[in-house]
Amino acid sequence: MKSLVLERKDELSLRDFPAISKAEETLGPRDVRIKLHTVGICGSDVHYYTHGKIGPFVVNAPMILGHEASGTVIEVGSDVSTLTIGDRVCMEPGIPDPNSRATRLGMYNIDPAVQFWATPPVHGILRPTCVHPEAFTFKLPDDVSFAEAAMVEPLAVGVHAATKARVKPGDVAIVMGAGPIGLVTALSALAAGCARVFVTDLAEKKLDIAASLSPAITPIQIPAQDMVQIVKRETAGWGADIVFEATGSPHAARTVFEPLAPGGCVVMIGGQPDPIQYDAGAAMVREARVENIFRYAHVFPRCVGMLSSGAIDVKPLITRTFDFEDSVRAFEIAASAPPADVKMQIVLPQ
Ligand SMILES: [Zn+2]
Repeated sequence: MKSLVLERKDELSLRDFPAISKAEETLGPRDVRIKLHTVGICGSDVHYYTHGKIGPFVVNAPMILGHEASGTVIEVGSDVSTLTIGDRVCMEPGIPDPNSRATRLGMYNIDPAVQFWATPPVHGILRPTCVHPEAFTFKLPDDVSFAEAAMVEPLAVGVHAATKARVKPGDVAIVMGAGPIGLVTALSALAAGCARVFVTDLAEKKLDIAASLSPAITPIQIPAQDMVQIVKRETAGWGADIVFEATGSPHAARTVFEPLAPGGCVVMIGGQPDPIQYDAGAAMVREARVENIFRYAHVFPRCVGMLSSGAIDVKPLITRTFDFEDSVRAFEIAASAPPADVKMQIVLPQ
């Protein structure tokens, strides 16, 4: 099965990968076999390529990349009841142990035993087909394209963040970071009812894309513009009800409480490899609520529903598409972090 393989740090190849073909010969009774159509390139895929690890997850053996995917069901297990051959689907990439304590408590995303695509040693899905549980495979309506469906995975992070923030109609939010996760968070915050979302970033082109998504989004380019001053001015000195930290930068994280309104909520989304400074005094005087999120749980059907209804439009975030044959080049371009790109996707031969 020809796959995009991360051989080791800085080395990718498009080659046959017999081990995965062998592992997926059999289809369990509650599994479906899927022909992959579109796979998004995630920052985590790129980070494994350029660094060979993310925190405790180290690439010690060749690993297939990719975890943001859509495709078509080509085979169903004997007990599958909700999907049939020919269904267009998107897939949730993390599979928990169904009997674990975390799963039974409804927090399957933080099950320590979760198996997540393209997180070593689990292989990803930049390959022609995969076998996946029915329970983590979601049927698409006709009006959601394969490209949009491959955006459900990152969108799920934003929707989970907005859910944890408990957005109320009319809230004012700040999203720090205009990368793919920052932008899906801004769209999710608006869909959840925010009146206005300020989006900060260093890159002007990313902010231009942010501003184009909705008239309710106000871009703030740092450090030239003063985020705290602007937000305070626009909220009559009160501050933002919610601050979403989506940069993963320790410097940005240090400032999350400054623009926050009394009684506001901070949601930490960006991964921090090392301990960071936290202004406990600023949090205390606001009685700030701080939420942390790890991926998402139970939101894929909601994301599909919002894409279908038009409540959220992710199409402007898809800035480049490559053929599978060009996927090594696609990763080289992604690794150079082009300022005008948000999400790059790879389309497999059909
Ligand atoms: Zn991702």
